Amino acid sequence: MEKTLVILKPCTIQRGLTGEIIHRFERKGLQICGMKMMQLTDDILIEHYSHLAQRPFFKRIKDSMMVTPVIVCCLKGIDAVRIVRAMAGVTNGRDAQPGTIRGDYSVSVQENIVHASDSLETAETELKRFFKEDEIFDYAISQLNSKYANDEY
Ligand code: UDP
Ligand code: MG
Repeated sequence: MEKTLVILKPCTIQRGLTGEIIHRFERKGLQICGMKMMQLTDDILIEHYSHLAQRPFFKRIKDSMMVTPVIVCCLKGIDAVRIVRAMAGVTNGRDAQPGTIRGDYSVSVQENIVHASDSLETAETELKRFFKEDEIFDYAISQLNSKYANDEY
């Protein structure tokens, strides 16, 4: 099964929305394999958002990610990367469809509630960036047959 990274951004912590957002992923059926609060630094954000380094607003984005600690989550499931991206919605909260996380909770491009890995390859790199090996837990869940047909997993 796939594992993917979700970061609950400082805007989510500030607005007291962490429980609601985590609830959505649990309700969907994704398994939480890792979760912790951490204070992001300039160094980790330069790496994490390297694809935005040349954009004029790069500093603004980095600063917004350091306003409070964040909560990083490792979520697991079949097609977890694609599911979580779909649940997050498009980057701009004003364009995101109602029913998605950004569509329901955000009116901003920057303050858009969650980070979600955009491919399986990215997810693997990003999980290593934010978690130590022993912070990811591969435990068995009892309701697997309520979540999937037995030939799906
Ligand atoms: N971002 C922004 N303005 C932009 C593009 C991105 O403020 O024009 C911020 C926004 O918070 C976004 C993050 O930078 O979530 C990472 O950008 P990316 O293009 O990777 O979007 P995502 O994968 O988060 O949808
Ligand atoms: Mg991205």
